[in-house]
Amino acid sequence: MRNRPQIVILGAGYAGLCTAHRLQKKVKPGNAMITLVDRRSYHVNNISLHEVALGNALAQDVSYDLVPVVREPHARVLQAEVISIDIENQVVHTSAEDLAYDYLVIALGFVTETFGIKGMDEHAFHIENFIQSEAISRHIEDRFREYAFTDSLQRDPLDLSILVGGSGFTGVELLGEMVDRIPLLCKKYGISQSLVSLRCVSADKKFLPMFTDKQAQYIMDYLSDGGVEFYMDAMINEATPNSFKFKDKNGEHEFKANTLIWTGGVSGSPIMKETFGDAVRRGRLVVNQDLTVPGHENIFVIGDVAAFISKGSDRPEGTTAQIATQMGTATADNIARTLAHRPRHDFVFKNSGTVCSLGARHGLASVYGFTITGFLSMRLKKFVETLTDYKISGLYNAIKNTRLFKLINF
Ligand SMILES: Cc1cc2nc3c(=O)[nH]c(=O)nc-3n(C[C@H](O)[C@H](O)[C@H](O)COP(=O)(O)OP(=O)(O)OC[C@H]3O[C@@H](n4cnc5c(N)ncnc54)[C@H](O)[C@@H]3O)c2cc1C
Repeated sequence: MRNRPQIVILGAGYAGLCTAHRLQKKVKPGNAMITLVDRRSYHVNNISLHEVALGNALAQDVSYDLVPVVREPHARVLQAEVISIDIENQVVHTSAEDLAYDYLVIALGFVTETFGIKGMDEHAFHIENFIQSEAISRHIEDRFREYAFTDSLQRDPLDLSILVGGSGFTGVELLGEMVDRIPLLCKKYGISQSLVSLRCVSADKKFLPMFTDKQAQYIMDYLSDGGVEFYMDAMINEATPNSFKFKDKNGEHEFKANTLIWTGGVSGSPIMKETFGDAVRRGRLVVNQDLTVPGHENIFVIGDVAAFISKGSDRPEGTTAQIATQMGTATADNIARTLAHRPRHDFVFKNSGTVCSLGARHGLASVYGFTITGFLSMRLKKFVETLTDYKISGLYNAIKNTRLFKLINF
């Protein structure tokens, strides 16, 4: 079957799955073979991982199988670890088999970036996949249970203390879930909420720069009212088994807690650096306007591993599921055009806004210049999730994966 052009897509996240799903509709079975490679047999809606981390959603609520989405005869899923990419010989080495390609789409997503902070990898939880998110949920509940069922003289107050490093989008959405969940845990274990400490330490000077000052202040006020204490412009330099050590304008500090969570940064897959060398910064490669690699017009780099600079701008767009999905659509269309000997189109990012969830019933949406808060913003977030599911997996799967049901089930 090697006579058909081979299209290999690495990563079944928003970008890769969207490319595969759209391409299998655009290309006739005789015209190409599509192989979608991922270490997992399922897609994960990363944008909901913070819900899993506080037990407000289950792993099965935020994931679904790839096989029903990517189907024979001209598309298949290969569950394997991508080990390396040999650009010269146009081969991808995986743990299962070597894949020769005519067109390659690299969509390997993000990994947690701890910037070399001592002890952060070992001692803090990260939100990278739902196994880690579930571990956070279990750990927090275990600490509350331990506190409640220990003799009052031997209780460890740090069991009720949670430290979050980083105040970016992930950290803020996680804190929003905590504001929802902590009162329920206190009620369940008969613990006074006044004993719980929820602190966020962040190097950021400006809180949530993707929002206006007023919107960002609204979010910070909501979380502060829910018991979160913020320490901004504070540089964490070490994580110990039960503390963050950090420095701010007032000097050196150490905050203690039995739950440490790091949300302070992500970078693109390490395979990017191994493949493209020094051109890669924090796992991201600056791509051409059609999302290809400079000098390699058959290799597309999309999603969190791509640094795409819109025309007229001097900085790469941020990494979000929104842009990853749009890149997937554009890449599928461009590969289909190339196979049909038609010219490619440049990618244009259409930013329709940002929705930040603050637990299950609250949030802030900034869309097309409008600000929506409260319950309506959360409905909007669920709608966006359903729409994204539709784009990357089709109507049937979007319905089957219950996002639509969640939308109307309030
Ligand atoms: C808690 C949280 C909340 C977020 N909220 C939002 C939000 O509200 N809105 C928004 O737009 N964005 C949000 N984001 C960001 C968004 O999730 C990412 O930008 C998006 O997931 C990037 O999509 P992607 O397809 O590039 O990569 P990913 O979704 O990370 O997919 C990469 C895929 O590659 C696979 N893979 C990686 N390495 C290998 C390998 N070596 N071998 C085989 N397979 C491999 C992985 O298993 C994965 O399936 C959030 C992120 C987090 C963590």
